[in-house]
Amino acid sequence: MAGISITSSDRVFVLTGAGISAESGLPTFRAEDGLWAGNRIEDVCTPEAWRRNPGLVWTFYSKRRVDGAKAQPNPAHFALAELEGRIGDRYFLCTQNVDDLHERAGSTRLLHMHGELAKSRCERDCGKPPVEDHAFYASLDEVGRCACGGRMRPHIVFFGEMPLEMDRIQDEIHKATLMLVIGTSGSVYPAASFVHWARQGGARTVYIGPEHPLNASAFTQIVEGKAGEVLPGLFDVE
Ligand code: NAD
Ligand code: ZN
Repeated sequence: MAGISITSSDRVFVLTGAGISAESGLPTFRAEDGLWAGNRIEDVCTPEAWRRNPGLVWTFYSKRRVDGAKAQPNPAHFALAELEGRIGDRYFLCTQNVDDLHERAGSTRLLHMHGELAKSRCERDCGKPPVEDHAFYASLDEVGRCACGGRMRPHIVFFGEMPLEMDRIQDEIHKATLMLVIGTSGSVYPAASFVHWARQGGARTVYIGPEHPLNASAFTQIVEGKAGEVLPGLFDVE
């Protein structure tokens, strides 16, 4: 397999999705049945679901917390952390994943655009920052409230909500000369647009995953395979 060359003048922007954690045993979300771990997205992962039944939403994310804590980073997470170690501040990782497997593999220059499982925040826009929270909430009665009176919600970007830190993401894409997109179906926006933004700036764009994403035509190269099998040894760093 041809490697991906990274020269000393390259700046790399990486976007990962649920597929990179699949080999760690965490289910992806648009698997054939369109469900996430057996649940319909509209029941557990939208602002409407939160308003209608916050207890159900918390049960769902509590289970994801347990699964996430049990899972271990796989060779793909480690390969990216190693790449970061080699090129330092010319590397930036944006993940759509809410698990912490990138951090546990050693990545530090990363941003969770869709939030993090291990944090909670106030349901109101009261300005209080998210807090670390590993609890499993079996009932809504156990869920605490913010000082302002708002109920604590998962620090997760629900479908229909604006992803986090878009300004910083746009800035990093603008600077990139190489974009690597790994294990994401290209169906969730705005993340699916990142490859177009990178192309507009003249960057090389590479997709890595076992099947072509919906936005496949925007990539200059597609490396077919499972992330954990393909990523180790893929990069030729100058
Ligand atoms: P997706 O579930 O829509 O698509 C998964 C993609 O991964 C598919 O294109 C599939 O071909 C690919 N894939 C499967 N196995 C792979 C492997 N071994 N190596 C590489 N690729 C593989 O994922 P998405 O586009 O990230 O959208 C899912 C949304 O749901 C995200 O926004 C995310 O926040 C959330 N989600 C997160 C997690 C997590 O944190 N682990 C898990 C499920 C869903
Ligand atoms: Zn509050």
